Amino acid sequence: MLITIVTLFPEMFPGMLAYSLPGKQLGNLWDLKTVNIREFSDNKWQKVDDTPYGGGAGMVIKPNIIHEALTDALKNYPNNEPAIINMTPRGRLFNNATARNLAEYDGLIILCGRYEGIDQRVIDHWIQHHNMQEISIGDYVLFGGEVAAMVIIESCLRFVPGIMHNEDSPEDESFCIKDINGSRVDLLEYPQYTKPVSWSGYDVPSVLLSGNHAEIAKWRIEQAKQITRSVRPDLLGH
Ligand code: SAM
Repeated sequence: MLITIVTLFPEMFPGMLAYSLPGKQLGNLWDLKTVNIREFSDNKWQKVDDTPYGGGAGMVIKPNIIHEALTDALKNYPNNEPAIINMTPRGRLFNNATARNLAEYDGLIILCGRYEGIDQRVIDHWIQHHNMQEISIGDYVLFGGEVAAMVIIESCLRFVPGIMHNEDSPEDESFCIKDINGSRVDLLEYPQYTKPVSWSGYDVPSVLLSGNHAEIAKWRIEQAKQITRSVRPDLLGH
């Protein structure tokens, strides 16, 4: 998978993506390129933004500059069609299902906004002509799309075959818990414990020490349901 980040701050990458499991496979099972939006500035001051029509606070990144930067990013994919994503709080809320879907592409282009955002016309053009998707990572506003892009990349890479040591790992986590009958359910994960058996007056639940796999599976799914009911009843359709 080749990921291209279109950003005003290419030096932020790979950043934390160079560590741990994704870092070990960077340049191997996946690769990262950046396109610096500023290189497509249309003026000698290297400015990329201007004041918003209609007034108001902040600056808006100009459409022609973003168009040139995205067109340049597309050149990294001569033989396939990457998924193109605009990071924005106005996008569809990101979740595990979207991560799994994006991981099926050989390429991703991720556009990171800054300031007040990006001129709507270039967004409309790329949605219309290049199927660009708009994704938000949550109901809050960040300074820029770079951290959001890293969130998307980390969660997608978990579904790229070979990146996790255990191929099953992304399939038995929160939002994808194995039910007693082996099917997957959209629940938060049950609690996990390791040695020692007793710590600071807290004990590992005895069922986990029983060696009875059927009882352990039953306990885990009950815990998952209980936690989900209390913290995220929306996942249970309530
Ligand atoms: N004016 C915009 C609004 O109110 O929707 C917010 C702009 S924000 C300060 C600047 C950039 O940060 C956005 O263009 C986007 O790329 C990124 N960003 C901020 N919050 C985000 C979120 N929740 N999800 C994804 N990207 C986000």
